[in-house]
Amino acid sequence: MRETVKAAEAPSEPSGNSVNVQGGKRDSCKPSETAVAWIKRLVAFDTTSHKSNLDLIEDVKATLALLGFVFRITYDTTGRKANLLATLPSGDGRLTGGLCLSGHVDAVPVDGQPWSSSPFLPVIHDSRIYGRGTCDMKGFVGTAIAVAVAHHDKPRQAPLHLALSYDEEVGCLGAPAMVQDMIASGIVPDGCVVGEPTMMKVVSAHKGANVGRCRVEGLARHSSLAPQGINAIEFASRIIVHMQSMADEFARSGPFSDGFDVPFTTLQVGQIEGGIAVNTVPASCTFTFELRNLPSTSADAVFDRIREYARTEVLPPMRHRADGAADIVFERLAAAPALEPQEDSAFTRLVRAVTGDTAIRKVAYGTEAGIFSQAGIPTVVCGPGDIAQAHTADEYVELSQIARCEAVLSELAKRMCVRASEPLSSKETAS
Ligand SMILES: [Zn+2]
Repeated sequence: MRETVKAAEAPSEPSGNSVNVQGGKRDSCKPSETAVAWIKRLVAFDTTSHKSNLDLIEDVKATLALLGFVFRITYDTTGRKANLLATLPSGDGRLTGGLCLSGHVDAVPVDGQPWSSSPFLPVIHDSRIYGRGTCDMKGFVGTAIAVAVAHHDKPRQAPLHLALSYDEEVGCLGAPAMVQDMIASGIVPDGCVVGEPTMMKVVSAHKGANVGRCRVEGLARHSSLAPQGINAIEFASRIIVHMQSMADEFARSGPFSDGFDVPFTTLQVGQIEGGIAVNTVPASCTFTFELRNLPSTSADAVFDRIREYARTEVLPPMRHRADGAADIVFERLAAAPALEPQEDSAFTRLVRAVTGDTAIRKVAYGTEAGIFSQAGIPTVVCGPGDIAQAHTADEYVELSQIARCEAVLSELAKRMCVRASEPLSSKETAS
């Protein structure tokens, strides 16, 4: 992006129905048939996170290959899941720059949820598309594919990228390899939209989402000989209490960031497992914890503090009793970086101009946006649907949201890919 984009003073949009540029002429309540067809097609693949997504990836790739897209695929270690970067090159064959539209194609399980219809047979009812992932986030991905397809035969000054990832729902595990591969191969988009459901509002900052697991190994004994054992649950609880005091410190002393629902870093233990019987000193205890850090707080530093406490305060008394047999092992299960606000970037200003949304919005949930942004790609979160519908039974997305998304993405593609050589001016960004 060139830096000639002026900060948009676009007025807030009252109806949320039309793109706030150039008069917003399309019938904005109705998405294209192509977008709806793609959403239905994607939902029909059961890509619950623990399953393979290769059928979906192959299906998308096979269609786009006929339209001149080029691909980079990165796999997980099992080879059962893949990220797909599909690029529509610029007219002169360039792959770097341009607009990137990104979404995950995995979805959360439907087990135990009372669905009124089959989650993988999408249906349209009451101007909504129902089905697993319609809101989070195959609604966006299908729309992004439709917009990209619509650009395959347009003259393009800059490329248009689709970046589809696996395993977002289990801790943003897929996207890092895709983004690393992009950067390593010299593909650096001018801006990226991660289309998690925001009701098409612009979210420019979010917390990091980090998951850690700690396994405390003690020594089993009959409970009548408790002092001869090493009680793993009791030593684990010392670490947990320390983490709780760290969380209290964040709440009390900050750092703070206005605009977040919870304006400080949070840390909590969400799962714990230990012991085999009440009359046995537990030899093992495992707990899983989550850190949601503000962009200004280093997740690594917080993890280091926890490890250091365990190493210096908890492990020595265990080892003293167990002649060195005891152990405490930490694992990092997920590390999705926070999204730093980039309000000054030309891309953020362009998205704000096109959506007409000038409000600063920060959210507590993590997304893959932090991964793109950390790699130097200006990124915002903006997608159709309400996060309240995500992960629920009878998940749906409003067709009007899909239409709005399609209009916004089309306008961004026009500005960044089709007309990229024209300097963007404030004149263009006014409605
Ligand atoms: Zn999602």
